Amino acid sequence: MIKVLDLHKSFGKNEVLKGISTEINEKEVVCVIGPSGSGKSTFLRCLNRLEEITSGEVHVNGINIADSKVNINQIREDVGMVFQHFNLFPHKTVLENVTLAPLKVKKENKEMAKQAALALLEKVGLGEKANAFPASLSGGQKQRVAIARALSMNPKVMLFDEPTSALDPELVGDVLQVMKELALEGMTMVVVTHEMGFAREVGDRVFFMDDGLILEEGTPGELFDRTKHERTKEFLSKVL
Ligand code: ADP
Ligand code: MG
Repeated sequence: MIKVLDLHKSFGKNEVLKGISTEINEKEVVCVIGPSGSGKSTFLRCLNRLEEITSGEVHVNGINIADSKVNINQIREDVGMVFQHFNLFPHKTVLENVTLAPLKVKKENKEMAKQAALALLEKVGLGEKANAFPASLSGGQKQRVAIARALSMNPKVMLFDEPTSALDPELVGDVLQVMKELALEGMTMVVVTHEMGFAREVGDRVFFMDDGLILEEGTPGELFDRTKHERTKEFLSKVL
């Protein structure tokens, strides 16, 4: 589903990604962990071209997204993204937040978009909040709306960048539960997270990023219990 070949990304003289090569299979859940500043968000943003790639290749569902001729809207349809801060439109209702992209980008029929959005809101446990405004929701509820909004485009891949980092601890579980259900349904997911329990339980593979590279990767068992690199051990000793 995703194939990355020698991906480099620099901001000016600052080389942030230093040659990442990896493949992520359909229906796979990959959790990305690593210290702050190691390039996790930049890596994720290169997967849907929120960042221009400096060199290398990124193929998503057979499309080379580094190709300047590629339709950026097609990429954004195929790859949904959920951020740490939910970025909901404050003056639109929950339902309007979820139907906006299908109506504007996909030109979907209004009633069909509404029915699909209501089904997605049910799925994330917020069916009764359709007509509420974001300000009246908890952080966890807002994040679940953001997930429903990303799913409204029927993406082939979902990217999550620390989706629970801004939430009060008691609100984290509901969001992780929604993500876990999505994983069980077979969604291909790349999840940058500090939730090591989630990575261990839901991840098929875990990437440890350090200084712009995937330093170590493996199954959760390999990465957490049979850690190879000293650097990974040191990181895990601080977060576990
Ligand atoms: P992480 O998500 O692992 O904390 P990031 O990918 O956000 O790391 O950042 C990695 C490095 O890239 C940091 O040094 C950061 O300052 C730099 N960086 C990220 N985005 C930008 C940007 N838009 N412009 C300049 N530097 C950036
Ligand atoms: Mg980040």
